[in-house]
Amino acid sequence: MTSVNVRTGQDVVRPDKDTFLSEENPFEAMMSRFDYAAKRLSLDAGLYKVLRNPEKQIVVSIPVQRDGGDVEVYTGYRVLYNTSRGPAKGGIRFDANVTLDEVTALAAWMTWKCAVVNIPFGGAKGGVICDPGTMSMGELERLTRRYTSAIIDTLGPDSDVPAPDVNTNERVMAWIMDTYSMHKRHTVTSVVTGKPVAMGGSLGRREATGRGCMIVTLEALKRHGMPVKGARVAVQGFGNVGSVAADLLAKQGAVIVAVSDKSGGLYNANGFVVADLLKWVEEKKVLAGYPNGEAITNEQLLASNCDVLLPAAMENVITSKNAATIQAKIICEGANGPTTAKADAILEQKGIFVIPDILANAGGVTVSYFEWVQDRSGYFWDEDTVNRRLERIMGTAFEEVTTMADKHAVNMRIAAYMLAIERVAAVHRLRGMYA
Ligand code: GLU
Repeated sequence: MTSVNVRTGQDVVRPDKDTFLSEENPFEAMMSRFDYAAKRLSLDAGLYKVLRNPEKQIVVSIPVQRDGGDVEVYTGYRVLYNTSRGPAKGGIRFDANVTLDEVTALAAWMTWKCAVVNIPFGGAKGGVICDPGTMSMGELERLTRRYTSAIIDTLGPDSDVPAPDVNTNERVMAWIMDTYSMHKRHTVTSVVTGKPVAMGGSLGRREATGRGCMIVTLEALKRHGMPVKGARVAVQGFGNVGSVAADLLAKQGAVIVAVSDKSGGLYNANGFVVADLLKWVEEKKVLAGYPNGEAITNEQLLASNCDVLLPAAMENVITSKNAATIQAKIICEGANGPTTAKADAILEQKGIFVIPDILANAGGVTVSYFEWVQDRSGYFWDEDTVNRRLERIMGTAFEEVTTMADKHAVNMRIAAYMLAIERVAAVHRLRGMYA
């Protein structure tokens, strides 16, 4: 059965049957989009096989002495998906739900993301299965240092450069940098990005992912002839990405009507004062209890009456079960993989314009690139320069993806994959095969 996008009249891309069986497997979710984009590009069979497989998957056991004296052993991963365009780049997450499949999908997404914004990096991701909420600062430090030493052979400014991701931050990046530097016997700032500014971090890095979301949302609104002033925005996730995007969009005149975090959601038809929300979360750590809004669930947030929906929390939140309830005209994917492949087809049929994760949240890795450049040259830029250069890169990438979408009559996600795969494939062809 075929169906069409109600807005553009284009055929809707449907994932193949396998995806329907395992909607929540992130690697298959990534692959179903990859396969479709590769087919549209007529990618040759050999390259297709190369790009379908991760270059390297590392699995390590990480013994950590808990504060009480007991020893716990954690499992950690680092996956280098593709390094043809440059050093592997990608965050490290600490989370109880980390799996090798998830880390591999996220490493592939990093590969496509770096190619979409055309920065000279490959893609990687790391993860440790743990619950950081139940661990002390000392335990987290020991875990981070032991994990770093376990994967130290892959790390390096020219080979593999981590960054923050879910439940990791500049504190964790500082420990990674220190551990690596102690092994090398000299300070190596460029081995990791997202560091504190006082030790080689870049101005604007912390806000970069949220700022990037704001930039592409403004572009999407412009493309749809919708003014930003008064545009109603719902933001899922109030961490580093969601809170910054909400703040910056509100400063542009948008009205933030819904927000949520792990503790639940809040709705205010007149719009939240984001500065107030930020203050509340800084003090109380969670949104719950904030007085100037009506309590809603995360599901209600997704279905709320808004123009722009910004999922900035975790994977697989927009699925075949709730995609039909979404009222937004634009979705800006601040998180990695928030939409399942099956949901894509429903959103497309509804004519919703999706700014895909590998474009929407690429602001973070773009400023990571700036940080790496600054560390390597030992010359640091002011915040205006960082933000201006970020705006230029995100603006260009948005335009290139929309041009691809228009040229091939595909949605923005498939267009972003096509642009990325084409760029990675071009380098493989130029380099040839080492045998
Ligand atoms: N973890 C972030 C992401 O998924 C940033 C990665 C980086 O800066 O290397 O894009």
